[in-house]
Amino acid sequence: MTDSTPQHHRLIILGSGPAGLTAALYSARANLEPLVLEGAQPGGQLTITTDVENYPGFPEGIMGPELVDIMRQQSQRFGSIHRYEVAEEVVLETRPYRIRTDTAEYSCDALIIATGATAKQIGLESEAELMGYGVSACATCDGFFFRDKEVAIVGGGDTAMEEAIFLTRFASKVTVVHRRDELRASKILQDRALANDKIEFAWNRQVVEILGNKKDGVSGARLESTVGEEEVTLPCEGVFIAIGHRPNTELFAEVLTTNEVGYLVVDEPTTRTAREGVFAAGDVMDPSYRQAVTAAGSGCKAALDAERWLELQE
Ligand code: NAP
Repeated sequence: MTDSTPQHHRLIILGSGPAGLTAALYSARANLEPLVLEGAQPGGQLTITTDVENYPGFPEGIMGPELVDIMRQQSQRFGSIHRYEVAEEVVLETRPYRIRTDTAEYSCDALIIATGATAKQIGLESEAELMGYGVSACATCDGFFFRDKEVAIVGGGDTAMEEAIFLTRFASKVTVVHRRDELRASKILQDRALANDKIEFAWNRQVVEILGNKKDGVSGARLESTVGEEEVTLPCEGVFIAIGHRPNTELFAEVLTTNEVGYLVVDEPTTRTAREGVFAAGDVMDPSYRQAVTAAGSGCKAALDAERWLELQE
């Protein structure tokens, strides 16, 4: 941090997914004029999904990016301030709290952390090398490039099933590579994927290498057996990774308490963290539900907690 005087706000919200934007709506309506630092992925993970069918109020479903756009418009109507900046340093040891972004410095009395989570990678050298060259972590962003091609998707959860189904719009065949013989995904998505003629399953298999090069793209994946069978090579031109997420807590992990898998710990049922006036909402503190609607709900709770805490400081 520099010595210059930072712009002061009573409440700053880090993150702009459904948690951050709902916190912005509630705190804006409480006249707190919150500053929302939108972060590296404005709108959060909803911006890389297509149809959201389970957010209440939209009987026909709604596209993820549209949902966050209208959430943002709703909170701006009540005076939330939005900056497309990424927080790079957060000082929580002294008050007022200070935040340095890529372009400015701010201070605040209360802070809501709604920085969400990021897609995990398997951790293979070939995966890192070919990311963007046939390997992708976002079917909705990149599926279009695989028209009439065979692709693989790694994972057995809701994301993997949803993305596998989405990919069948373009790909000629989608192989789900899952390390067990049972899916983790919800029943409705399992049933849809299992009934889809274009989707095949490579059960009890783990990708150990993605074959190909940057010039020609992906040509296949080496699949090890998790139950002692022979290794096989799956020919494919795209590999999509959908193996879950890790919470975005790098900026606070040393100051705030995290659980064994890195999620921020709050004083349930509130959204209070171990620091006075610092609250957490959404995927960054929720290892269990991780839904847009639960994120929005916890964003609402964080705004109410922050508002009550600020009142007590006056
Ligand atoms: P998830 O539920 O954590 O599932 C991750 C999947 O990847 C699991 O099947 C896991 O295998 C597998 N996996 C993890 N690490 C792996 C590795 N290193 N190598 C190979 N496979 C690995 O994550 P998610 O599917 O992203 O879903 C996250 C949350 O969002 C869930 O709560 C989900 O319900 C929700 N979500 C909901 C919807 C919807 O309702 N429409 C859509 C998307 C996501 P194991 O099963 O063996 O652990």
